[in-house]
Amino acid sequence: MTVSFHLCQPGGGASCGACCGLYNFRDHTRVALTEQLAMQTERLHRVPWEASAWQEAARELIAARRAAPMFPAVRVCPLLGFLDKDRKQVGCLGHPLVTGGTDLRDCGVYRASVCETFTCPSFGWLTDAQARLVQVACADWYLYGLVITDVEFVRGCLRLIEWELGGPAKPEVLVERPEVLAAVRKLFALKETAPRRDAKATVFGRFSRDTEGEPVPRTVDYVKLGTRAAPEDDVVLCLGYTPQDSTELMAARELVRSHVKGVARLLAG
Ligand code: SF4
Ligand code: SF4
Repeated sequence: MTVSFHLCQPGGGASCGACCGLYNFRDHTRVALTEQLAMQTERLHRVPWEASAWQEAARELIAARRAAPMFPAVRVCPLLGFLDKDRKQVGCLGHPLVTGGTDLRDCGVYRASVCETFTCPSFGWLTDAQARLVQVACADWYLYGLVITDVEFVRGCLRLIEWELGGPAKPEVLVERPEVLAAVRKLFALKETAPRRDAKATVFGRFSRDTEGEPVPRTVDYVKLGTRAAPEDDVVLCLGYTPQDSTELMAARELVRSHVKGVARLLAG
């Protein structure tokens, strides 16, 4: 394991519920997910800490879901909610630290033992410094989960910054200066803010859906678009772009490039 601190609830405003299925909806905007989490939190707050009551509430919440999961093979847990009244921290409402000792995670979509021990690939693939950069740059529950779980995106952004600089851009250096960190946040926040993405496309970042409902990695069809690969394309894919022609691809690349240049300019200054 490369990362030595816990990625799920690292503090400082960052928290994650991605592996509990948080983003597994076609509409996974901040507004839509806030509404979903608020509903689950409100419902479960009214339920006594007893397994049978939680099982019933979990069934109800699944039935009342605003939409079907985008990837049917990936489970979406109704026990995910906001841990604080200000709705700034996402987490498991059935965790014993939340319930005062009763472990209610068996009432969710996995066994409690799975929830307790699961670590996503980011634990193994991100370095400590990369994970710290994401934590500090994306200090909010919505953006943090989107970025910390996308190793290709984080690495791709750092690689582009290095190319632009013509030298190393160590993550531990990027967090040192507030103005640089703000520019890195803008770059990472493209996960949320990037315009003109196809809202109807069944994609989540770099993944589309196979016939079994499983996420599968996708690529740019350069032959169809009549163009060649460029260094920005990994990040373009991770942002969820599905360019239909070379003009759309160029526009997406330019968006990424301008944000990378923004970071590099400040670093070099
Ligand atoms: S997706 Fe990874 S970082 Fe997020 S809650 Fe799950 S294990 Fe933790
Ligand atoms: S019960 Fe497990 S899957 Fe459900 S919210 Fe809690 S940790 Fe996530």
